[in-house]
Amino acid sequence: MEVVKPVKRNILLNPGPATTSDTVKYAQVVPDICPREPEFIEVMDRVRKELVRIVHGDPEKYTAVIFTGSGTIIQDVCVNSLVPDKKKICVVNNGAYSARMVEIANHYHIPCVNLKFPETGLPNLDTVRETLEKDKEIVVVATVHHETGTGVLNPIKEIGAIAHQEGCLFVVDTISTYGLRPIRIEEENIDFLMSSAQKGLAAMVGASWTVGRIDEIEKSASYPKRSYYCNLFMQYDFFKRVGEIHFTPPVQTIYALQQAIKEYWEEGEHARWERLTQCWEAIHKGLNEMGLESVIDKEIQGHLVVTVKAPESGQFDFTKFHDDCYERGFTIYPGKMFGVKTFRLCNLGQITYKDVEDFFVVAKDSFKKMGFTLPLNR
Ligand SMILES: *Cc1c(COP(=O)(O)O)cnc(C)c1O
Repeated sequence: MEVVKPVKRNILLNPGPATTSDTVKYAQVVPDICPREPEFIEVMDRVRKELVRIVHGDPEKYTAVIFTGSGTIIQDVCVNSLVPDKKKICVVNNGAYSARMVEIANHYHIPCVNLKFPETGLPNLDTVRETLEKDKEIVVVATVHHETGTGVLNPIKEIGAIAHQEGCLFVVDTISTYGLRPIRIEEENIDFLMSSAQKGLAAMVGASWTVGRIDEIEKSASYPKRSYYCNLFMQYDFFKRVGEIHFTPPVQTIYALQQAIKEYWEEGEHARWERLTQCWEAIHKGLNEMGLESVIDKEIQGHLVVTVKAPESGQFDFTKFHDDCYERGFTIYPGKMFGVKTFRLCNLGQITYKDVEDFFVVAKDSFKKMGFTLPLNR
């Protein structure tokens, strides 16, 4: 891949889109092509197979179905397409992205059991089991692998085992773990997972997909078609017949995705996880030096997001802090927790622990400018 001219490198510590390589950026610069040409259909076919391979899916059992849109589109698709008429979905909800799936179910008037747990901890598995035992109308269980809103990593293998014991389909939003934290789809009891190009694979915005069970997609042909653009079976069927996304695909985004997948394998699944864990450790080290604390226990974090308790003192101004960092090439993000003042530091993209160390030089400067003495007194 040719890089014509290096692009200014920004370190994105927000929860996606992530920092991308220049080779991925330039992969979008391709001759104009009509997506119905066999050449593009081949690209699409290869990309779909790779998307299954990244999560070690058996290609006889699992397939990837891609949609044009940001991550929420695939949450929409999975929630609206996989629940039979008059049956219920149960969302194991301990954060903002699970809550979004509840909202989607409500939006389509799909009966939904919103199983809410505190967002600073893990869901109670006994409660999940009891709920499914009691309510036999529940046929789909959905949750989020890594709650990007807080940084909590959920025990999906265990939740999936319970869902399967109770005869339910298990659907997992893995949007902030796919391509980052190694996933073995079948061993983790996942029937459908979700991902989006601009997150773990560090590609461009505009393509999102599910990797899911072929037999279950075919079964869903008889379920209500609650959406025209976002129905899973209809998109799968079009891929099967034509090899393509129904309606115009995000052509250039797919080329970037193809390059990002190549770079994923070049780095290696485990080397990537090591690199990201080093970034996450560097975040904790920097926070510790500053006297800042993380809201979520380190043991239940997914190594990809740290939610930081903001100083309570009136001297702290998130906007000023953000602007100072932004000017020097680092993007940070506000928190997504209810009732506590927080901000988030995320390490999803093509960054290293050295970038994180550089960030903390800037962060410390900014705190000093706001009048703090470091480390802060806890
Ligand atoms: C980013 C993200 C989404 C989707 O958000 P979009 O803004 O639509 O891309 C969904 N779930 C999780 C866990 C995410 O991290």
